[in-house]
Amino acid sequence: MRHAQPPTQLRSSSRREFLADTFRFAAVLGSQQTASAQIARMRLILLGTGGGPRPRRASSAAAQVIITGGVAYVIDCGDGVARQLVMAGVPLSSVRHIFLTHHHSDHNADYGNLIWLAWSAGLRTRVDTWGPPPLRRMTRLFLQMNRYDIDTRIANEGRVPLSPLVHVHEFRTGGEVMRDERVRVTSVLVDHPPVVPAFGYRFDGPERSIVISGDTAASRNLVKLANGADILVHSAMYPNAIDRLVARVPNAATLKASILAHQTSAEQAGRVAQDAGVKVLVLSHFVPPDDPEITDQMWADAARVHFQGTVIVGKDLLEI
Ligand SMILES: [Zn+2]
Repeated sequence: MRHAQPPTQLRSSSRREFLADTFRFAAVLGSQQTASAQIARMRLILLGTGGGPRPRRASSAAAQVIITGGVAYVIDCGDGVARQLVMAGVPLSSVRHIFLTHHHSDHNADYGNLIWLAWSAGLRTRVDTWGPPPLRRMTRLFLQMNRYDIDTRIANEGRVPLSPLVHVHEFRTGGEVMRDERVRVTSVLVDHPPVVPAFGYRFDGPERSIVISGDTAASRNLVKLANGADILVHSAMYPNAIDRLVARVPNAATLKASILAHQTSAEQAGRVAQDAGVKVLVLSHFVPPDDPEITDQMWADAARVHFQGTVIVGKDLLEI
């Protein structure tokens, strides 16, 4: 974002012209603030930027929220997503739609918890959830598992029943997911073996378009989905650090081969962003998520090998 610079040198010593300059400067500032307020009508907040389900001090698991017209569209529900929304200042009662890219635990561990805790925080309106099977079964079993608390609060605290608020939509192929008066959401299948199907999502609003890659190896489908988008949030891996990551996770003998097969390096993410012609590439879902030897500069430099646009190294609670 650009900031207006104050006039470094007044062109006249007269008070009238000084005031004219002052007002002109204020007008520039005012118009820029108006412009940024319009852009900010569709806000993107990174809630969790670490890849992998292992709880960490440094970063929360994968989740993002797009807010437009006071309505929250949550994409992925890694561990801690409800708390991260609170930390970001997003009212839990504003959660209206939840999209899951795929069923890995770093993306869905708190899917049910988000709905349940939002309800206990005052949500009493409909929530639509979107994603691949077995989303319907997961939702039903989650509500069943927590029926004791839910029924107790309905009877004891006068809450509206929770189950009727939740509307699940499962799909196995890409295409238009939903649209309302604020945003149109489309998806493509991405390449994240062995998890099939796995999706990337695109959100088109009046002011900007935002694409969330989900987890994927470098994907031509994603290049098409992200064509001309303002912002692409892409998962990013640093291949040279995978050996150190694997050494910290003792119970996963085939983890290295798995990571290399189904994730995109930061350099490849830059290639995807360049091929798609996006304006801003936001790196997120870092693999490894907490290796001090991989600096922000190294992540950004890798993405810039092929990408000429703006690169942002994602952080939890960063608003873009
Ligand atoms: Zn995954």
